[in-house]
Amino acid sequence: MSATLQFGNGKSSTIQTGLYINGKFQPGAEGKTFAVVNPANGKEICQVSEASAKDVDAAVKVARETYDNKWGEKVSGRERGKMLIRLAELIEENADELAAIESLDNGKAFSIARSFDIPEAAANFRYYGGWADKVHGKTIEVVDSKFCYTRHEPIGVCGQIIPWNFPFLMMAWKIAPALATGNVVVLKTAEQTPLSALKFAELIEKAGVPPGVINIVQGFGPTAGAAIANHMDIDKVAFTGSTLVGRNILKAAASSNLKKTTLELGGKSPNIIMNDANIDDAVAWSCFGINFNHGQCCCAGSRVYVQAGIYDEFEKKLLAKYKSINVGDPFKQDTFQGPQVSQLQYDRIMAMIESGKQEGGKILTGGERHGKEGYFIEPTIFTGVNHDAKIAREEIFGPVLVLQKFEDEAELMKIANDSIYGLAAAVFSRDISKAIQTAHALKAGTVWVNCYNQLHPNVPFGGYKASGIGRELGEYALSNYTNIKAVHVNLSEPAPM
Ligand code: NAD
Repeated sequence: MSATLQFGNGKSSTIQTGLYINGKFQPGAEGKTFAVVNPANGKEICQVSEASAKDVDAAVKVARETYDNKWGEKVSGRERGKMLIRLAELIEENADELAAIESLDNGKAFSIARSFDIPEAAANFRYYGGWADKVHGKTIEVVDSKFCYTRHEPIGVCGQIIPWNFPFLMMAWKIAPALATGNVVVLKTAEQTPLSALKFAELIEKAGVPPGVINIVQGFGPTAGAAIANHMDIDKVAFTGSTLVGRNILKAAASSNLKKTTLELGGKSPNIIMNDANIDDAVAWSCFGINFNHGQCCCAGSRVYVQAGIYDEFEKKLLAKYKSINVGDPFKQDTFQGPQVSQLQYDRIMAMIESGKQEGGKILTGGERHGKEGYFIEPTIFTGVNHDAKIAREEIFGPVLVLQKFEDEAELMKIANDSIYGLAAAVFSRDISKAIQTAHALKAGTVWVNCYNQLHPNVPFGGYKASGIGRELGEYALSNYTNIKAVHVNLSEPAPM
């Protein structure tokens, strides 16, 4: 029930590979395991226990019992805050090892996991640790003869289902606000990337979090994931992943116990470069906007619209910028882009590239496999793509950019907003009034002005339209994890009859 992982930097780490329920690692009820694959070479890293519906049920029972008897409002916000901050410190103390596990398992560059994913996850725990003793209701004056107040109570047992693109960070986004508000969790990691959460599980007890508060299971969507979404004793489900599965989660929640549901789903985010933009800055941010995390970001700037007056210069400079992207071994210090997460994702992206070619798109650069093994794809730019083409409308979730020219700003806004999605968008302009007006007109949960892919624990994130329901991060995320109770107190009002 443990595995020793060998990293590409010569170091190694031993992790537990069971399901983490009630503070203990244990095999699945059916005794099954599944392989975790290194996307840089397609080889098996190790086997981990596989959770079935029975295991989810066992984890929910433990979580419920813990919530009712040892957690919820029985532990003060101050105490919970201390635990969250201790978790942040433990993540920081183990950052090298956690980043190496994340890099091995997901394929992202070690240097990026070390400088972004892991420290940001720690920052999330610290941020919500700060909130834990500041979540409270209001007193509401009505008439002299009575007063009312609200309480922000925990919801109870929260099921959380996370994706593989930022395995550790998504886990932090889910667990930290849930604990800050006094909930307990049963979290399912993505089947492609369960390893960093298993290392995190080892830190939970050290942080003083009682057994049963955080339960982590690894398993597949249609079995363990569906068991969470359908469970009658889970009070809330939080999901990040594809829009398709998000719809299924919502249906399962509706047809079981109407559990509260938050969804963070896909996107096809427009990035608009106006004639008066600083071209060099816009080029650099746009390149980062699509290629960060190998294009595997729900908010990736996958549609770049450049105004005609600067289009030619922008295209030339973007192409030059692309030539500087280092694709390769995630453990090499200068690597920016590693492999896509899995063979399946590789195949899906290559099929989208093929579809772009079939629909008349011209490949400015890329479009091919990179290297001989693993799931590497060259950073790719398409031009000459019609707005109705599949690659201009559907999420690709890979390093594939559709670059388009526009003349008229008003016309462009219609195209930019013509999407089932509304997760993120960006605008580049030196005219701050124009930039802000554009930001307000874009139908998206996040708009970046003169930058891209900027996220912060304090600032909410989530989608309009089919990009989701609810907001993660910031103070706003706390409302996903609290029930509001209104209490009416009668001081002197007689009964109406
Ligand atoms: P997915 O939605 O299938 O998987 C995400 C999570 O949901 C995983 O933990 C998975 O096990 C779980 N899941 C799958 N089916 C489930 C079900 N029926 N019930 C409950 N849980 C279930 O995503 P994927 O297939 O790995 O990737 C497909 C596409 O999803 C990508 O190409 C991308 O477009 C999108 N995606 C988006 C995000 C995001 O951050 N919004 C993350 C990953 C993938």
